[in-house]
Amino acid sequence: MHKFQVLHDGIYCIDSGYVQDEYAAIYLLREGDEVAIIETATQHCLPRLLEVLTELAISYQQIKYVIATHIHLDHAGGIGAMMEIFDQARLIAHPRGAKHLIDPAKLIKGSMAIYGEETFKRLYGDIKAVDESRVDIAEDGDIYTVGGRDLLFLDTPGHARHHFCIYDAKSKGIFSGDTFGTSYPVLHYQQHGLIPSSSPAHFDPEAMNNSLDKILVYQPDYMYLTHYGEIDQPAAKAIELKQWLSDMQNLCQKLNPVDKASRLKLESALRQMTVDKLAGQVCCSEAELLALLDTDIKLNAQGLAVWWESTLNE
Ligand SMILES: [Zn+2]
Repeated sequence: MHKFQVLHDGIYCIDSGYVQDEYAAIYLLREGDEVAIIETATQHCLPRLLEVLTELAISYQQIKYVIATHIHLDHAGGIGAMMEIFDQARLIAHPRGAKHLIDPAKLIKGSMAIYGEETFKRLYGDIKAVDESRVDIAEDGDIYTVGGRDLLFLDTPGHARHHFCIYDAKSKGIFSGDTFGTSYPVLHYQQHGLIPSSSPAHFDPEAMNNSLDKILVYQPDYMYLTHYGEIDQPAAKAIELKQWLSDMQNLCQKLNPVDKASRLKLESALRQMTVDKLAGQVCCSEAELLALLDTDIKLNAQGLAVWWESTLNE
């Protein structure tokens, strides 16, 4: 049985098993008889979620909402499979993401371009479409309720244009998707060092900065990271994230990553920056750190380069 963590106020953090242990979370929020699932990982992770539902004595019919913070497939890949099984559930989607969940052809194509066909199939399997009649589109500031408990949807571009964060007033926490960076428990960060996620194709550091300010206005006590788990004292940690963003922008300025050679330089500079910034915060070797973060660093470098080119074309 794959375990889950009971956080507080009816929130559970379930380890989806995507890629490796404690890498991508599926959150479950329960209030009264109703349940929302926030983040879906991939269809391969569904059996784990179903086991947890059995353990918590939650029926499939109690799932009121399925939500993904954005449509990158480590968050949204399992939506179609979940919606088939949770036949009473509605999907809450971002205005920019909804059409790609209703017709995932473009999403699949875009993701295959990043990962390659073979890796894509291994990671994500089949991406199932969701019937349009079961999709609610959440505009910025919309509130949906679960058992009478308010969930506030906040448009938070930066990591992606189709990203929202969800503020849960009861727990004073925010389901931050990839807006508040990543922090893997396996690295045993002493202080949960965070790394911004600048993956392609619509990363925008200024938008991310604004989104960080926007969510901190709610003075949250917790962030529920998809990668991975709950962190506290978000206001203090946002300062580090903002510094990273600024340093990443400066790296682009310096290296002008517009061709293969300069992009490789950017990637290795990011690798070094990661080692430097996390020094003293991890209790694993540098080699282990870089092995775990290899994909993230490559994606971050790609996303930064795409963003940099877009600023040159403005
Ligand atoms: Zn993402």
